[in-house]
Amino acid sequence: MRPRLLARLASDLEKRRQAHALRQHLTHSEISARHVVCDGRRLLNFSSNDYLGLSHHPRVLAAARQAIDAGVGAGASHLITGHHHHHQALQEALADWQQRDAAVLFSTGYMANLGVIQTLCGRHDLLLQDRLNHASLIDAAALSGSRLRRYRHHDVEHLRALLSEHSNKAALIASDGVFSMDGDVAPVESLARLAKEQGATLMLDDAHGIGVLGAQGRGAAEQLSQQDCPVLMGTLGKAFGTFGAFVTGSQGLIEGLTQFARSHIYTTAPPPAWAAATLTALALIRGDDELRQQLHANIQQLRNALNGHAQAQLMPSQTAIQPLLLGDNARTLAVSQRLEEAGFRVAAIRPPTVPEGSARLRITLSAAHQEQDIKALVAALDQALAA
Ligand SMILES: *Cc1c(COP(=O)(O)O)cnc(C)c1O
Repeated sequence: MRPRLLARLASDLEKRRQAHALRQHLTHSEISARHVVCDGRRLLNFSSNDYLGLSHHPRVLAAARQAIDAGVGAGASHLITGHHHHHQALQEALADWQQRDAAVLFSTGYMANLGVIQTLCGRHDLLLQDRLNHASLIDAAALSGSRLRRYRHHDVEHLRALLSEHSNKAALIASDGVFSMDGDVAPVESLARLAKEQGATLMLDDAHGIGVLGAQGRGAAEQLSQQDCPVLMGTLGKAFGTFGAFVTGSQGLIEGLTQFARSHIYTTAPPPAWAAATLTALALIRGDDELRQQLHANIQQLRNALNGHAQAQLMPSQTAIQPLLLGDNARTLAVSQRLEEAGFRVAAIRPPTVPEGSARLRITLSAAHQEQDIKALVAALDQALAA
């Protein structure tokens, strides 16, 4: 008998429910880097990727308002009539900031990763990825049809061995810059060295590093030149506080993506007013170190407060992502729910987003948090973990 697709889906859902791994859309009436309002309750938000609080920065809002008359929709894809001068100005400013030849916009980071890997890699190529890379990089492998080999987290020697097995194949090494569920930074210099030595191409997805790390917020790979890291992808929905993504590199790379990246070509360009707001967010990221310093002071405050805590060991991270590893799905969910009752939103991250047995509270910090917010979180964590 022919299997019924919706019946199979219902059974998959039931399994996930039993594993305490069901997720849901929570509806908010207010969302900012510091607070969310959910069911009429105001919670301190420790689950946002708005690391600098730019989504509500007065200058970013003003830029969006001023540009809104350019249209709330682009009306077409970039290659038809959707590419506004705000998009062009943003591409040029992103490339200039990253000291690259050129940049191209994508509607989301997910789509940027699909577009890059589908453009560069084909069936006969080798695609090497850190085992903890973001889902969008993994999905891109399937779309490109290339042979995906995953190396152990941070293990450059494992990567070398995998590369050596196929020295005659074209190879792309793709890694998160800052790992999204762990907060640690990839060994970018070793990756660049190995790529050069092996004739492979290095791609970094620095969704969580840009805006947060490096001079002018250039990210986890600020010390790598265009030659060292020829494909650099960044997202604009995190520290930038807006939406979307870019890829930056040589003229040849960007021209190639413009011609061949299907997720850039066959989709509507983002709204022009969004590009104008993002350009202002970039000016703040480049020019204003104060927000970044505040974020790093907040990170240090949390780490110091939990240093030596019996039940709350933060994973080793110096970025805005400060996960607390608990392991068990049900316990992680229970602690997250207790925090919610106490007025804090801290996401419980469970498999399949992270490996089995490594469920965690993913605490994220923002420059928008105040000293008393972090103190209150630490006190609430104490209670929630003891209960
Ligand atoms: C968030 C994220 C993406 C996806 O970016 P979106 O713009 O949200 O689609 C890609 N890669 C990494 C590492 C991410 O953390």
